[in-house]
Amino acid sequence: MFEIILKKQLAPNVKLIEVKTPLIAKKALPGQFVILRVHEKGERIPLTIADKNLEKESITIVFQEVGKTTKLLGRLGVGDKISDIVGPLGNPSEIEKFGVVIGVGGGVGIAALYPILKGLKEKGNYVISIIGGRSSDYVIFREEIKNISDEIYITTDDGSLGRKGLVTDVLKEILEERKIDRIWAVGPTIMMKVVSDLTKNYGVPTIVSLNPIMVDGTGMCGGCRVTVGDKIKFTCIDGPEFDGHLVDFDELLARLKTYKEEEALALRLFEESEVGKVGHSKN
Ligand SMILES: Cc1cc2nc3c(=O)[nH]c(=O)nc-3n(C[C@H](O)[C@H](O)[C@H](O)COP(=O)(O)OP(=O)(O)OC[C@H]3O[C@@H](n4cnc5c(N)ncnc54)[C@H](O)[C@@H]3O)c2cc1C
Repeated sequence: MFEIILKKQLAPNVKLIEVKTPLIAKKALPGQFVILRVHEKGERIPLTIADKNLEKESITIVFQEVGKTTKLLGRLGVGDKISDIVGPLGNPSEIEKFGVVIGVGGGVGIAALYPILKGLKEKGNYVISIIGGRSSDYVIFREEIKNISDEIYITTDDGSLGRKGLVTDVLKEILEERKIDRIWAVGPTIMMKVVSDLTKNYGVPTIVSLNPIMVDGTGMCGGCRVTVGDKIKFTCIDGPEFDGHLVDFDELLARLKTYKEEEALALRLFEESEVGKVGHSKN
């Protein structure tokens, strides 16, 4: 059992929790994730480790409430316990001195991008961050990203914060003018696809962090299969980061829709149930 020691609402439907996980906190590296079950009969869901605190022996998770399990998780409060958490899973990001790097983050992906950029900054890279969301409320982790960036650009779809438009608008302008050594893109699959299509034209190596449907996290179930450069890869053990120029994004986007009906049904039944109606969040 893992205790929640801090909880914050970051944006509509986006929550941060800090969970006491001594062993995972000790080992976690940028780019890695955990798989958790809210209760012992719950489904396993993967979530990225957004930060860790060695003194508090904790990890930070930022999640968007999209379906049954993430909504259930969002109802837990400080002092509540999560049944099990496995990790750290996945390969850590390649954190080296590249020179000038750009981090592109969208929505809840901004939190997942944070530990990677923090690691890159500590290695002496010049870090440019471009973060975006639907509107001002959805651009999370602004202070954290600002603190570890040499330059930060913010875009919103409605212009309520930073520049009106998409993260790729700013990215294109920078790529036109400057030499960039490496790019990381973390966010909605469609955003990572558009970023990768763009940077291919400029020949800048681009790493994406994929989030396919994933079940066991050990390479056995095959649920998180993706095609990368005509090879079959499992995101849980070969990723979650891959060369964005080689990922078959159209296949990934199609696979993400596989269980849409079942997910909608699970959510409806959950919301109609007593737990769904009442909840027990202390926050
Ligand atoms: C390596 C990895 C890291 C991730 N990190 C984060 C994170 O830091 N924050 C965050 O908000 N989300 C993250 N996700 C996505 C998160 O796992 C899903 O949003 C969650 O599983 C949805 O569960 P649900 O029951 O609430 O919703 P569901 O109703 O089951 O699904 C809602 C949507 O989530 C997707 N999804 C469903 N099940 C899974 C699954 N097991 N794995 C991946 N996607 C799924 C589906 O495509 C669907 O569109 C990550 C996914 C992966 C693979």
